[in-house]
Amino acid sequence: MKEKRDCKIVQDLLPNYVEKLTNEETNNFIEEHLNGCNECKKILENMKNDLNIDDSKRDNREVKYIKKYNKKLTILKSLIIIILAVALGTMTYFYFEMRNAYVSAVEKMIEMVTDGMYPDTFYATIEEISDSEVYGVKEIKIKGLNINDINHREEYYFYVILDNIGDNFKIKWNGEDIKFEQLKVGQTVAVYNYGDISESEPNNLTGVRMIVVLDEVR
Ligand SMILES: [Zn+2]
Repeated sequence: MKEKRDCKIVQDLLPNYVEKLTNEETNNFIEEHLNGCNECKKILENMKNDLNIDDSKRDNREVKYIKKYNKKLTILKSLIIIILAVALGTMTYFYFEMRNAYVSAVEKMIEMVTDGMYPDTFYATIEEISDSEVYGVKEIKIKGLNINDINHREEYYFYVILDNIGDNFKIKWNGEDIKFEQLKVGQTVAVYNYGDISESEPNNLTGVRMIVVLDEVR
């Protein structure tokens, strides 16, 4: 009778025992009973088997899910990389297209402005070379010689953008390009002005494209 009653208690406890939720004292009681009771032992075995199958099933499902998820993630990553690469390529392409279009438009404009236009050429002496308020821009003051016509005998000034020298602005001596630093106060020069002479004091030359030094340059 006692055995039977113990069986009932042990069987009630077994689910917790299998999950290792029972305390040591309870464990001792259960294990002692199991040693002498085949029925309860069998029930425990079945429980353990069921639990193992459950566990492995669940593990399998999880592994499958993670694998599937990883696969999706890899596809997503590849997609993002492809989209970024295409976007970057497109942007680079259009950047260079636009830049080329811009450069050729500017070149065309300069060509149109100067094409068929004759420079207003006259002779002068360099009176002053100084820094302007803008970095990289120099100011040159000249005095027109008396051999010029009456409109080119005054004082004039104009700006030189150092970066433009050689392209939009040339300084020449003896048929060759020379450096800005080789311009000196006191030199006699021929001035090629493609723009206006604005009415100011001294007069501002707006389109000087070339200076030819006539004196000896050292
Ligand atoms: Zn039992």
